[in-house]
Amino acid sequence: MEKENLEKNTRTPLSAFIELLMNSEELPHSAEKALSMIAPALQLMRVQSHTCIPPKDKDGKQEFADHIWYDSIGNHDPSSMAGLDTVDAVHLTHQMEGDRATVTLSSYHSVHDPAWTSAQRQDILDFMNVLMLAFSKSRLISTLRRNALIEPMSQLPNAAGFISQAGKLLNRGQLSLYNAFYFNLKSFGLINRRFGKDETDRIIVRYSKALTDFTEGEECVGRLGGDNFVALIRKEKSSDFLRFISGVQTFGVIAGEEIPILIQAVAGALEIDSSITTADEIIGKCGTALHVAKNVEKVPYVFVTPELNSSVYQQKQIVEQFPAALINKEFKVFYQPKVDTRTNEIVGAEALIRWLSDGKIIPPNEFVPIIEKDGSICQLDFYVLENVCQDIRDWIAKGIKPVRVSTNFSRKNLSHPDFADRILELLTKYNIPREYIEVEITETTEEAENALLVDFMNCMHDEKIATAIDDFGTGYTSLNVLSDFSVDVLKIDKSFIERHTKTEKDSVVLSNVVKMAKELDMTIINEGVENWEQVDFLQNLGSTVVQGFLFDKPLPEESFRQRLKIGKYDISSNE
Ligand code: C2E
Ligand code: MG
Ligand code: MG
Repeated sequence: MEKENLEKNTRTPLSAFIELLMNSEELPHSAEKALSMIAPALQLMRVQSHTCIPPKDKDGKQEFADHIWYDSIGNHDPSSMAGLDTVDAVHLTHQMEGDRATVTLSSYHSVHDPAWTSAQRQDILDFMNVLMLAFSKSRLISTLRRNALIEPMSQLPNAAGFISQAGKLLNRGQLSLYNAFYFNLKSFGLINRRFGKDETDRIIVRYSKALTDFTEGEECVGRLGGDNFVALIRKEKSSDFLRFISGVQTFGVIAGEEIPILIQAVAGALEIDSSITTADEIIGKCGTALHVAKNVEKVPYVFVTPELNSSVYQQKQIVEQFPAALINKEFKVFYQPKVDTRTNEIVGAEALIRWLSDGKIIPPNEFVPIIEKDGSICQLDFYVLENVCQDIRDWIAKGIKPVRVSTNFSRKNLSHPDFADRILELLTKYNIPREYIEVEITETTEEAENALLVDFMNCMHDEKIATAIDDFGTGYTSLNVLSDFSVDVLKIDKSFIERHTKTEKDSVVLSNVVKMAKELDMTIINEGVENWEQVDFLQNLGSTVVQGFLFDKPLPEESFRQRLKIGKYDISSNE
Protein backbone atom coordinates (compact mmCIF):
# COMPACT_ATOMS: atom_id res chain seq x y z
CA MET A 1 0.00 0.00 0.00
CA GLU A 2 2.77 2.41 0.98
CA LYS A 3 4.71 1.53 -2.13
CA GLU A 4 1.62 2.19 -4.25
CA ASN A 5 1.23 5.64 -2.73
CA LEU A 6 4.84 6.43 -3.26
CA GLU A 7 4.60 5.43 -6.92
CA LYS A 8 1.50 7.58 -7.33
CA ASN A 9 3.24 10.56 -5.74
CA THR A 10 6.49 10.21 -7.62
CA ARG A 11 4.77 9.83 -10.97
CA THR A 12 4.53 13.63 -11.40
CA PRO A 13 6.28 14.71 -8.22
CA LEU A 14 7.65 18.06 -9.42
CA SER A 15 4.36 19.35 -10.86
CA ALA A 16 2.43 18.32 -7.73
CA PHE A 17 5.13 19.88 -5.59
CA ILE A 18 5.05 23.17 -7.56
CA GLU A 19 1.28 23.31 -7.51
CA LEU A 20 1.07 22.79 -3.79
CA LEU A 21 3.76 25.33 -2.94
CA MET A 22 2.86 28.11 -5.35
CA ASN A 23 -0.84 28.12 -4.63
CA SER A 24 -0.43 28.22 -0.92
CA GLU A 25 -0.48 31.29 1.29
CA GLU A 26 0.85 29.50 4.37
CA LEU A 27 4.24 28.53 3.15
CA PRO A 28 5.86 26.65 6.07
CA HIS A 29 2.91 24.33 6.44
CA SER A 30 2.48 23.61 2.72
CA ALA A 31 6.25 23.21 2.26
CA GLU A 32 6.35 20.53 4.93
CA LYS A 33 3.45 18.76 3.23
CA ALA A 34 4.99 19.07 -0.25
CA LEU A 35 8.40 17.89 0.96
CA SER A 36 6.90 14.92 2.77
CA MET A 37 5.47 13.75 -0.60
CA ILE A 38 8.92 13.46 -2.15
CA ALA A 39 11.10 12.79 0.88
CA PRO A 40 10.93 8.97 0.98
CA ALA A 41 11.87 8.55 -2.69
CA LEU A 42 14.82 10.92 -2.33
CA GLN A 43 16.00 9.73 1.12
CA LEU A 44 15.37 13.27 2.40
CA MET A 45 15.65 13.48 6.13
CA ARG A 46 15.78 17.21 6.66
CA VAL A 47 15.51 20.45 4.65
CA GLN A 48 16.41 23.64 6.43
CA SER A 49 17.22 27.24 5.60
CA HIS A 50 19.66 29.76 6.95
CA THR A 51 18.73 33.39 6.23
CA CYS A 52 21.10 36.29 6.60
CA ILE A 53 19.50 39.76 6.59
CA PRO A 54 21.84 42.73 6.02
CA PRO A 55 21.52 45.74 8.37
CA LYS A 56 19.06 48.49 7.29
CA ASP A 57 21.46 51.35 8.11
CA LYS A 58 25.17 51.58 8.77
CA ASP A 59 24.83 51.36 12.55
CA GLY A 60 22.42 48.43 12.39
CA LYS A 61 23.18 44.74 13.05
CA GLN A 62 23.17 41.85 10.60
CA GLU A 63 20.36 39.41 11.47
CA PHE A 64 20.21 35.63 11.04
CA ALA A 65 17.26 33.26 11.00
CA ASP A 66 17.13 29.46 10.74
CA HIS A 67 14.08 27.51 9.77
CA ILE A 68 13.40 23.78 9.39
CA TRP A 69 11.14 23.15 6.40
CA TYR A 70 11.02 19.42 6.77
CA ASP A 71 12.34 16.91 9.28
CA SER A 72 11.37 13.27 9.17
CA ILE A 73 12.40 12.52 12.73
CA GLY A 74 10.89 15.61 14.33
CA ASN A 75 14.11 17.27 15.44
CA HIS A 76 13.21 20.98 15.59
CA ASP A 77 16.62 22.31 16.53
CA PRO A 78 18.33 23.70 13.37
CA SER A 79 21.72 23.73 15.11
CA SER A 80 21.65 20.01 15.89
CA MET A 81 23.09 17.91 13.06
CA ALA A 82 22.92 14.60 14.93
CA GLY A 83 22.35 11.65 12.57
CA LEU A 84 22.57 13.81 9.43
CA ASP A 85 25.17 13.33 6.72
CA THR A 86 26.53 16.87 6.52
CA VAL A 87 29.27 15.92 4.04
CA ASP A 88 26.89 14.64 1.38
CA ALA A 89 24.41 17.55 1.85
CA VAL A 90 23.00 19.60 -1.06
CA HIS A 91 23.13 23.38 -0.63
CA LEU A 92 21.46 26.12 -2.65
CA THR A 93 22.12 29.81 -2.01
CA HIS A 94 19.87 32.58 -3.27
CA GLN A 95 19.75 36.35 -2.91
CA MET A 96 16.19 37.47 -2.21
CA GLU A 97 14.88 40.41 -4.17
CA GLY A 98 13.42 43.28 -2.27
CA ASP A 99 15.04 42.86 1.13
CA ARG A 100 18.53 41.69 -0.05
CA ALA A 101 18.45 38.73 2.34
CA THR A 102 20.69 35.78 1.43
CA VAL A 103 19.05 32.41 1.95
CA THR A 104 20.83 29.07 1.92
CA LEU A 105 18.66 25.98 1.67
CA SER A 106 20.28 22.70 2.76
CA SER A 107 19.04 19.14 2.29
CA TYR A 108 20.38 16.21 4.32
CA HIS A 109 20.00 12.45 4.38
CA SER A 110 20.72 10.16 7.29
CA VAL A 111 24.31 9.05 7.99
CA HIS A 112 22.98 5.48 7.53
CA ASP A 113 21.66 6.07 3.99
CA PRO A 114 23.85 5.53 0.93
CA ALA A 115 25.23 8.66 -0.75
CA TRP A 116 22.93 10.37 -3.25
CA THR A 117 23.38 9.51 -6.91
CA SER A 118 23.98 12.42 -9.25
CA ALA A 119 20.42 12.01 -10.65
CA GLN A 120 19.05 12.19 -7.12
CA ARG A 121 21.14 15.27 -6.38
CA GLN A 122 19.78 16.96 -9.51
CA ASP A 123 16.19 16.10 -8.47
CA ILE A 124 16.86 17.51 -5.00
CA LEU A 125 18.27 20.71 -6.52
CA ASP A 126 15.17 21.04 -8.71
CA PHE A 127 12.88 20.65 -5.71
CA MET A 128 14.95 23.09 -3.71
CA ASN A 129 14.82 25.66 -6.52
CA VAL A 130 11.05 25.46 -6.49
CA LEU A 131 10.99 25.76 -2.71
CA MET A 132 13.29 28.78 -2.93
CA LEU A 133 11.00 30.38 -5.50
CA ALA A 134 8.00 29.86 -3.26
CA PHE A 135 9.95 31.21 -0.27
CA SER A 136 10.97 34.25 -2.30
CA LYS A 137 7.41 34.88 -3.35
CA SER A 138 6.05 34.56 0.17
CA ARG A 139 8.75 36.89 1.55
CA LEU A 140 7.94 39.45 -1.10
CA ILE A 141 4.22 39.26 -0.36
CA SER A 142 4.77 39.66 3.37
CA THR A 143 7.14 42.64 2.77
CA LEU A 144 4.56 44.23 0.49
CA ARG A 145 1.82 43.60 3.03
CA ARG A 146 3.95 45.06 5.81
CA ASN A 147 4.79 48.13 3.69
CA ALA A 148 1.14 48.67 2.86
CA LEU A 149 0.46 48.94 6.58
CA ILE A 150 3.50 50.99 7.57
CA GLU A 151 4.20 54.67 7.10
CA PRO A 152 7.76 54.52 5.75
CA MET A 153 9.30 57.58 7.42
CA SER A 154 8.25 57.02 11.02
CA GLN A 155 7.96 53.22 10.61
CA LEU A 156 4.68 53.53 12.53
CA PRO A 157 1.52 51.86 11.21
CA ASN A 158 -0.38 54.03 8.72
CA ALA A 159 -4.20 54.33 8.70
CA ALA A 160 -4.60 50.84 7.22
CA GLY A 161 -2.12 49.39 9.73
CA PHE A 162 -3.88 51.07 12.63
CA ILE A 163 -7.29 49.84 11.46
CA SER A 164 -5.86 46.37 10.97
CA GLN A 165 -4.54 46.31 14.56
CA ALA A 166 -7.88 47.61 15.88
CA GLY A 167 -9.64 44.98 13.77
CA LYS A 168 -7.52 42.20 15.28
CA LEU A 169 -8.39 43.34 18.80
CA LEU A 170 -12.05 43.69 17.84
CA ASN A 171 -12.16 40.14 16.46
CA ARG A 172 -10.69 38.86 19.69
CA GLY A 173 -13.28 40.81 21.70
CA GLN A 174 -10.52 42.87 23.35
CA LEU A 175 -10.96 46.27 21.69
CA SER A 176 -13.04 47.72 24.53
CA LEU A 177 -10.02 47.33 26.85
CA TYR A 178 -8.56 50.27 24.92
CA ASN A 179 -9.27 53.95 24.30
CA ALA A 180 -8.54 55.51 20.93
CA PHE A 181 -6.86 58.85 20.26
CA TYR A 182 -6.43 60.99 17.19
CA PHE A 183 -3.93 63.76 17.81
CA ASN A 184 -2.41 66.63 15.96
CA LEU A 185 0.75 68.54 16.79
CA LYS A 186 0.59 72.18 17.80
CA SER A 187 2.86 74.69 16.05
CA PHE A 188 4.11 72.09 13.60
CA GLY A 189 4.33 74.83 10.96
CA LEU A 190 6.68 76.77 13.21
CA ILE A 191 8.92 73.72 13.71
CA ASN A 192 8.99 73.19 9.95
CA ARG A 193 9.98 76.77 9.28
CA ARG A 194 12.59 76.80 11.99
CA PHE A 195 14.31 73.48 11.27
CA GLY A 196 13.59 72.93 7.56
CA LYS A 197 12.01 69.89 6.00
CA ASP A 198 14.81 67.32 6.47
CA GLU A 199 15.40 68.03 10.14
CA THR A 200 11.63 68.19 10.75
CA ASP A 201 11.42 64.68 9.28
CA ARG A 202 14.09 63.56 11.76
CA ILE A 203 12.16 65.28 14.58
CA ILE A 204 9.07 63.32 13.55
CA VAL A 205 11.11 60.11 13.65
CA ARG A 206 12.36 60.96 17.19
CA TYR A 207 8.86 61.87 18.27
CA SER A 208 7.46 58.64 16.81
CA LYS A 209 10.11 56.66 18.69
CA ALA A 210 9.08 58.37 21.96
CA LEU A 211 5.47 57.44 21.25
CA THR A 212 6.38 53.83 20.50
CA ASP A 213 8.43 53.64 23.70
CA PHE A 214 5.32 54.64 25.62
CA THR A 215 3.31 51.73 24.22
CA GLU A 216 3.27 48.22 25.65
CA GLY A 217 1.88 44.88 24.51
CA GLU A 218 -0.72 45.31 21.81
CA GLU A 219 -1.09 49.06 22.22
CA CYS A 220 -0.45 50.85 18.97
CA VAL A 221 0.53 54.29 17.74
CA GLY A 222 0.10 55.16 14.08
CA ARG A 223 0.87 58.08 11.81
CA LEU A 224 -1.77 59.15 9.34
CA GLY A 225 0.61 61.53 7.59
CA GLY A 226 1.86 65.07 8.29
CA ASP A 227 1.43 65.84 11.96
CA ASN A 228 -1.57 63.57 12.47
CA PHE A 229 -1.22 60.57 14.73
CA VAL A 230 -3.54 57.92 16.16
CA ALA A 231 -3.21 55.59 19.12
CA LEU A 232 -4.87 52.69 20.85
CA ILE A 233 -3.96 52.73 24.52
CA ARG A 234 -5.14 50.51 27.39
CA LYS A 235 -7.94 52.27 29.28
CA GLU A 236 -6.05 52.36 32.59
CA LYS A 237 -3.17 54.22 30.88
CA SER A 238 -5.32 56.77 29.01
CA SER A 239 -4.85 59.72 31.32
CA ASP A 240 -1.10 59.03 31.46
CA PHE A 241 -1.08 59.01 27.68
CA LEU A 242 -2.93 62.33 27.44
CA ARG A 243 -0.48 63.82 29.89
CA PHE A 244 2.40 62.34 27.91
CA ILE A 245 1.35 63.78 24.54
CA SER A 246 0.58 67.17 26.08
CA GLY A 247 4.34 67.78 25.99
CA VAL A 248 6.94 65.39 24.58
CA GLN A 249 10.47 66.65 25.02
CA THR A 250 12.73 66.06 22.04
CA PHE A 251 15.21 68.10 20.00
CA GLY A 252 16.03 69.46 16.59
CA VAL A 253 19.49 70.07 15.18
CA ILE A 254 20.59 73.35 13.65
CA ALA A 255 24.24 73.75 12.57
CA GLY A 256 25.26 70.72 14.62
CA GLU A 257 23.68 72.04 17.78
CA GLU A 258 20.87 70.17 19.52
CA ILE A 259 18.01 72.53 20.33
CA PRO A 260 15.44 71.20 22.78
CA ILE A 261 11.80 71.35 21.67
CA LEU A 262 8.59 70.44 23.40
CA ILE A 263 6.08 68.86 21.06
CA GLN A 264 2.55 69.44 22.25
CA ALA A 265 -0.47 67.68 20.82
CA VAL A 266 -4.20 68.30 20.78
CA ALA A 267 -6.30 65.14 20.90
CA GLY A 268 -9.71 63.76 20.19
CA ALA A 269 -10.34 60.74 22.41
CA LEU A 270 -12.82 57.89 22.30
CA GLU A 271 -13.76 55.56 25.15
CA ILE A 272 -14.22 52.39 23.14
CA ASP A 273 -17.25 50.34 24.21
CA SER A 274 -19.41 47.64 22.70
CA SER A 275 -21.15 50.15 20.44
CA ILE A 276 -18.03 50.15 18.23
CA THR A 277 -18.57 47.34 15.75
CA THR A 278 -16.07 48.18 13.03
CA ALA A 279 -12.48 49.32 13.34
CA ASP A 280 -12.86 52.08 10.71
CA GLU A 281 -15.35 54.14 12.71
CA ILE A 282 -12.73 54.83 15.41
CA ILE A 283 -10.72 57.33 13.36
CA GLY A 284 -13.83 59.23 12.21
CA LYS A 285 -15.23 59.54 15.72
CA CYS A 286 -11.93 60.66 17.24
CA GLY A 287 -11.46 63.06 14.33
CA THR A 288 -14.67 64.87 15.22
CA ALA A 289 -13.54 65.21 18.85
CA LEU A 290 -10.13 66.45 17.68
CA HIS A 291 -11.79 69.09 15.53
CA VAL A 292 -13.81 70.31 18.52
CA ALA A 293 -10.76 70.31 20.83
CA LYS A 294 -8.65 72.20 18.33
CA ASN A 295 -11.00 74.63 16.67
CA VAL A 296 -14.01 75.05 18.91
CA GLU A 297 -13.11 74.56 22.55
CA LYS A 298 -9.37 75.18 22.09
CA VAL A 299 -8.45 72.70 24.81
CA PRO A 300 -5.75 69.99 24.92
CA TYR A 301 -8.25 67.14 24.41
CA VAL A 302 -11.93 66.34 24.03
CA PHE A 303 -13.61 62.96 24.55
CA VAL A 304 -16.32 61.82 22.17
CA THR A 305 -19.78 62.27 23.73
CA PRO A 306 -23.27 62.00 22.24
CA GLU A 307 -23.61 65.81 22.48
CA LEU A 308 -20.42 66.30 20.52
CA ASN A 309 -22.05 65.26 17.28
CA SER A 310 -24.91 67.63 17.87
CA SER A 311 -22.46 70.50 18.46
CA VAL A 312 -20.68 69.59 15.24
CA TYR A 313 -24.09 69.48 13.60
CA GLN A 314 -24.83 72.97 14.94
CA GLN A 315 -21.59 74.22 13.50
CA LYS A 316 -22.49 72.79 10.14
CA GLN A 317 -25.84 74.52 10.36
CA ILE A 318 -24.18 77.84 11.17
CA VAL A 319 -21.90 77.55 8.14
CA GLU A 320 -24.86 76.62 5.94
CA GLN A 321 -27.23 79.28 7.27
CA PHE A 322 -24.75 82.15 7.34
CA PRO A 323 -24.96 83.34 3.70
CA ALA A 324 -28.79 83.58 3.73
CA ALA A 325 -28.79 85.16 7.20
CA LEU A 326 -26.45 87.87 5.96
CA ILE A 327 -28.68 88.61 2.96
CA ASN A 328 -31.77 88.61 5.23
CA LYS A 329 -30.06 91.08 7.57
CA GLU A 330 -30.39 88.80 10.59
CA PHE A 331 -27.18 90.33 11.97
CA LYS A 332 -27.53 93.43 14.14
CA VAL A 333 -24.80 95.71 15.36
CA PHE A 334 -24.83 96.45 19.08
CA TYR A 335 -22.77 99.18 20.71
CA GLN A 336 -20.94 99.06 24.00
CA PRO A 337 -19.90 102.47 25.34
CA LYS A 338 -16.33 103.31 26.31
CA VAL A 339 -16.29 105.65 29.28
CA ASP A 340 -13.73 108.06 30.68
CA THR A 341 -14.00 107.36 34.40
CA ARG A 342 -12.75 110.84 35.36
CA THR A 343 -15.83 112.49 33.83
CA ASN A 344 -18.10 109.48 33.18
CA GLU A 345 -18.46 110.70 29.62
CA ILE A 346 -18.97 108.37 26.70
CA VAL A 347 -15.77 108.74 24.74
CA GLY A 348 -16.26 105.94 22.27
CA ALA A 349 -18.02 102.66 21.57
CA GLU A 350 -17.28 99.21 20.27
CA ALA A 351 -19.51 97.71 17.61
CA LEU A 352 -20.29 94.10 18.50
CA ILE A 353 -22.26 91.82 16.25
CA ARG A 354 -25.34 89.79 17.29
CA TRP A 355 -27.23 87.20 15.25
CA LEU A 356 -30.99 87.45 15.67
CA SER A 357 -32.19 84.02 14.66
CA ASP A 358 -35.81 82.92 15.23
CA GLY A 359 -36.30 85.48 17.98
CA LYS A 360 -33.11 84.39 19.80
CA ILE A 361 -29.94 86.46 20.10
CA ILE A 362 -26.88 84.38 19.29
CA PRO A 363 -23.69 85.88 20.81
CA PRO A 364 -20.62 86.16 18.55
CA ASN A 365 -18.58 83.58 20.47
CA GLU A 366 -21.00 80.93 19.19
CA PHE A 367 -20.60 81.70 15.51
CA VAL A 368 -17.60 83.99 14.88
CA PRO A 369 -14.98 81.24 15.43
CA ILE A 370 -16.94 78.94 13.09
CA ILE A 371 -17.33 81.35 10.17
CA GLU A 372 -13.77 82.47 10.74
CA LYS A 373 -12.52 79.10 9.58
CA ASP A 374 -13.72 79.38 6.01
CA GLY A 375 -13.09 83.12 5.86
CA SER A 376 -16.78 84.16 5.66
CA ILE A 377 -16.12 86.31 8.73
CA CYS A 378 -14.58 88.92 6.40
CA GLN A 379 -17.97 89.53 4.77
CA LEU A 380 -19.49 89.98 8.20
CA ASP A 381 -16.78 92.41 9.32
CA PHE A 382 -17.49 94.66 6.35
CA TYR A 383 -21.22 94.30 6.91
CA VAL A 384 -20.62 95.62 10.46
CA LEU A 385 -18.46 98.49 9.23
CA GLU A 386 -21.08 99.44 6.63
CA ASN A 387 -23.83 99.40 9.32
CA VAL A 388 -21.66 101.48 11.62
CA CYS A 389 -21.11 104.01 8.81
CA GLN A 390 -24.87 104.15 8.19
CA ASP A 391 -25.57 104.63 11.92
CA ILE A 392 -22.97 107.40 12.23
CA ARG A 393 -24.54 109.15 9.21
CA ASP A 394 -27.93 108.75 10.86
CA TRP A 395 -26.71 110.20 14.20
CA ILE A 396 -25.18 113.19 12.40
CA ALA A 397 -28.43 113.68 10.49
CA LYS A 398 -30.34 113.63 13.79
CA GLY A 399 -28.00 116.19 15.29
CA ILE A 400 -26.29 113.79 17.66
CA LYS A 401 -22.54 114.16 17.91
CA PRO A 402 -21.00 110.75 17.19
CA VAL A 403 -18.16 109.18 19.15
CA ARG A 404 -15.36 107.10 17.68
CA VAL A 405 -16.68 103.58 17.04
CA SER A 406 -14.33 100.65 16.91
CA THR A 407 -15.18 97.63 14.81
CA ASN A 408 -13.58 94.19 15.02
CA PHE A 409 -11.74 92.80 12.01
CA SER A 410 -10.69 89.18 11.91
CA ARG A 411 -7.08 88.53 10.98
CA LYS A 412 -8.45 86.53 8.06
CA ASN A 413 -8.89 89.91 6.33
CA LEU A 414 -5.12 90.37 6.22
CA SER A 415 -4.74 87.95 3.34
CA HIS A 416 -7.01 90.10 1.15
CA PRO A 417 -4.80 92.58 -0.69
CA ASP A 418 -7.67 95.11 -0.89
CA PHE A 419 -8.41 94.98 2.87
CA ALA A 420 -7.33 98.57 3.61
CA ASP A 421 -8.79 99.92 0.35
CA ARG A 422 -12.22 98.48 1.12
CA ILE A 423 -12.27 100.23 4.50
CA LEU A 424 -11.33 103.53 2.89
CA GLU A 425 -13.95 103.05 0.16
CA LEU A 426 -16.73 102.59 2.71
CA LEU A 427 -15.70 105.69 4.65
CA THR A 428 -15.74 107.66 1.41
CA LYS A 429 -19.08 106.17 0.33
CA TYR A 430 -20.79 107.32 3.54
CA ASN A 431 -18.64 110.42 3.89
CA ILE A 432 -17.54 109.51 7.42
CA PRO A 433 -14.88 111.70 9.05
CA ARG A 434 -11.99 109.39 9.80
CA GLU A 435 -11.84 110.38 13.45
CA TYR A 436 -15.07 108.41 14.02
CA ILE A 437 -13.68 105.02 13.01
CA GLU A 438 -11.25 102.75 14.79
CA VAL A 439 -10.13 99.35 13.56
CA GLU A 440 -9.69 96.57 16.16
CA ILE A 441 -7.60 93.59 15.33
CA THR A 442 -5.95 90.89 17.43
CA GLU A 443 -2.24 90.40 17.18
CA THR A 444 -0.84 87.37 15.43
CA THR A 445 1.90 84.82 15.98
CA GLU A 446 2.00 83.67 12.36
CA GLU A 447 5.12 85.17 10.85
CA ALA A 448 3.61 85.56 7.38
CA GLU A 449 0.51 87.19 8.85
CA ASN A 450 2.61 89.42 11.06
CA ALA A 451 4.26 91.06 8.06
CA LEU A 452 0.81 91.72 6.56
CA LEU A 453 -0.40 93.09 9.91
CA VAL A 454 2.52 95.54 10.06
CA ASP A 455 1.74 96.77 6.52
CA PHE A 456 -1.95 97.09 7.25
CA MET A 457 -1.47 98.96 10.52
CA ASN A 458 1.01 101.35 8.93
CA CYS A 459 -1.39 101.98 6.05
CA MET A 460 -4.21 102.80 8.52
CA HIS A 461 -1.84 105.08 10.38
CA ASP A 462 -0.92 106.93 7.17
CA GLU A 463 -4.62 107.29 6.34
CA LYS A 464 -5.27 108.70 9.83
CA ILE A 465 -7.59 105.89 10.85
CA ALA A 466 -7.14 104.83 14.46
CA THR A 467 -6.14 101.25 15.19
CA ALA A 468 -6.46 99.09 18.27
CA ILE A 469 -4.85 95.86 19.36
CA ASP A 470 -7.68 93.82 20.86
CA ASP A 471 -7.39 91.30 23.69
CA PHE A 472 -3.91 92.46 24.69
CA GLY A 473 -2.59 90.29 27.49
CA THR A 474 -4.07 87.02 26.28
CA GLY A 475 -2.55 84.16 24.35
CA TYR A 476 0.74 84.81 22.72
CA THR A 477 1.03 88.50 23.39
CA SER A 478 4.45 89.68 22.46
CA LEU A 479 5.79 93.07 23.25
CA ASN A 480 6.88 93.34 19.61
CA VAL A 481 3.45 94.72 18.76
CA LEU A 482 4.38 97.80 20.71
CA SER A 483 7.46 98.51 18.63
CA ASP A 484 6.76 96.91 15.23
CA PHE A 485 4.11 99.35 14.07
CA SER A 486 2.06 102.38 15.00
CA VAL A 487 -0.98 101.53 17.01
CA ASP A 488 -3.25 103.99 18.80
CA VAL A 489 -5.06 101.87 21.35
CA LEU A 490 -4.22 98.84 23.46
CA LYS A 491 -7.34 97.05 24.61
CA ILE A 492 -6.47 95.08 27.69
CA ASP A 493 -8.46 91.87 27.86
CA LYS A 494 -10.95 91.39 30.66
CA SER A 495 -9.15 88.32 31.96
CA PHE A 496 -6.27 90.67 32.77
CA ILE A 497 -8.32 92.93 35.01
CA GLU A 498 -9.99 89.94 36.69
CA ARG A 499 -6.58 88.58 37.60
CA HIS A 500 -4.52 91.66 38.13
CA THR A 501 -6.56 93.57 40.66
CA LYS A 502 -5.85 90.91 43.25
CA THR A 503 -2.28 91.25 44.44
CA GLU A 504 0.46 93.82 44.79
CA LYS A 505 2.62 91.94 42.30
CA ASP A 506 -0.16 91.89 39.72
CA SER A 507 -0.71 95.61 39.96
CA VAL A 508 2.99 96.14 39.25
CA VAL A 509 2.58 94.27 35.95
CA LEU A 510 -0.49 96.23 34.90
CA SER A 511 0.91 99.60 35.99
CA ASN A 512 4.00 98.99 33.91
CA VAL A 513 1.95 98.13 30.83
CA VAL A 514 0.02 101.38 31.35
CA LYS A 515 3.27 103.31 31.81
CA MET A 516 4.83 101.78 28.72
CA ALA A 517 1.73 102.50 26.61
CA LYS A 518 1.76 106.10 27.76
CA GLU A 519 5.39 106.51 26.84
CA LEU A 520 4.59 105.09 23.42
CA ASP A 521 1.69 107.52 23.10
CA MET A 522 -0.99 104.84 23.10
CA THR A 523 -4.35 104.88 24.82
CA ILE A 524 -5.20 102.02 27.13
CA ILE A 525 -8.75 100.73 27.30
CA ASN A 526 -9.59 98.19 29.94
CA GLU A 527 -12.33 95.79 28.92
CA GLY A 528 -14.59 93.92 31.30
CA VAL A 529 -14.77 96.50 34.09
CA GLU A 530 -17.62 95.40 36.29
CA ASN A 531 -17.21 97.26 39.59
CA TRP A 532 -16.00 100.53 41.11
CA GLU A 533 -13.15 98.81 42.88
CA GLN A 534 -11.66 98.05 39.48
CA VAL A 535 -12.23 101.64 38.36
CA ASP A 536 -10.36 102.93 41.45
CA PHE A 537 -7.58 100.45 40.92
CA LEU A 538 -7.18 101.50 37.27
CA GLN A 539 -7.39 105.18 38.05
CA ASN A 540 -4.58 104.79 40.55
CA LEU A 541 -2.48 103.33 37.77
CA GLY A 542 -3.38 106.22 35.48
CA SER A 543 -5.72 104.24 33.21
CA THR A 544 -9.05 105.96 32.91
CA VAL A 545 -10.90 104.72 29.82
CA VAL A 546 -12.93 101.58 30.42
CA GLN A 547 -15.50 99.44 28.66
CA GLY A 548 -17.61 97.14 30.78
CA PHE A 549 -20.87 95.97 32.24
CA LEU A 550 -20.42 98.49 35.07
CA PHE A 551 -21.66 101.15 32.66
CA ASP A 552 -23.49 99.12 30.02
CA LYS A 553 -23.63 95.81 28.24
CA PRO A 554 -23.53 96.04 24.42
CA LEU A 555 -26.73 97.90 23.50
CA PRO A 556 -29.02 97.87 20.47
CA GLU A 557 -28.52 100.95 18.30
CA GLU A 558 -31.70 102.70 19.56
CA SER A 559 -30.64 102.41 23.22
CA PHE A 560 -27.08 103.42 22.47
CA ARG A 561 -28.37 106.46 20.55
CA GLN A 562 -30.28 107.56 23.68
CA ARG A 563 -27.09 107.26 25.75
CA LEU A 564 -25.18 109.21 23.12
CA LYS A 565 -27.71 112.01 23.20
CA ILE A 566 -27.02 112.52 26.91
CA GLY A 567 -23.33 111.81 26.42
CA LYS A 568 -22.44 110.83 29.99
CA TYR A 569 -23.45 108.64 32.91
CA ASP A 570 -25.02 109.99 36.02
CA ILE A 571 -23.37 107.85 38.67
CA SER A 572 -24.64 109.68 41.75
CA SER A 573 -27.38 107.06 42.16
CA ASN A 574 -24.87 104.16 41.90
CA GLU A 575 -22.16 105.20 44.28
P1 C2E B 1 -14.01 91.59 21.98
O1 C2E B 1 -13.80 92.32 20.70
O2 C2E B 1 -12.87 91.50 22.91
O3 C2E B 1 -15.25 92.25 22.67
C1 C2E B 1 -15.40 92.42 24.03
C2 C2E B 1 -16.28 91.36 24.59
O4 C2E B 1 -16.31 91.49 26.00
C3 C2E B 1 -17.74 91.51 24.14
O5 C2E B 1 -18.28 90.21 24.05
C4 C2E B 1 -18.36 92.23 25.32
O6 C2E B 1 -19.75 91.99 25.44
C5 C2E B 1 -17.62 91.58 26.46
N1 C2E B 1 -17.64 92.43 27.63
C6 C2E B 1 -17.55 93.76 27.69
N2 C2E B 1 -17.62 94.18 28.96
C7 C2E B 1 -17.72 93.11 29.75
C8 C2E B 1 -17.81 92.89 31.16
O7 C2E B 1 -17.82 93.82 31.97
N3 C2E B 1 -17.89 91.64 31.61
C9 C2E B 1 -17.92 90.59 30.76
N4 C2E B 1 -17.98 89.38 31.26
N5 C2E B 1 -17.83 90.74 29.41
C10 C2E B 1 -17.74 92.00 28.91
P2 C2E B 1 -19.14 89.78 22.82
O8 C2E B 1 -19.96 90.90 22.31
O9 C2E B 1 -19.80 88.52 23.21
O10 C2E B 1 -18.04 89.52 21.73
C11 C2E B 1 -17.13 88.50 21.87
C12 C2E B 1 -16.07 88.55 20.83
O11 C2E B 1 -16.61 88.26 19.53
C13 C2E B 1 -15.43 89.91 20.66
O12 C2E B 1 -14.49 90.11 21.67
C14 C2E B 1 -14.84 89.82 19.30
O13 C2E B 1 -13.61 89.12 19.35
C15 C2E B 1 -15.84 88.94 18.58
N6 C2E B 1 -16.69 89.80 17.74
C16 C2E B 1 -17.80 90.50 18.07
N7 C2E B 1 -18.27 91.16 17.00
C17 C2E B 1 -17.41 90.91 15.97
C18 C2E B 1 -17.34 91.34 14.60
O14 C2E B 1 -18.14 92.13 14.08
N8 C2E B 1 -16.30 90.85 13.86
C19 C2E B 1 -15.37 90.01 14.40
N9 C2E B 1 -14.39 89.58 13.61
N10 C2E B 1 -15.41 89.62 15.67
C20 C2E B 1 -16.42 90.06 16.45
MG1 MG C 1 -13.01 93.91 20.18
MG1 MG D 1 -11.30 92.27 23.46
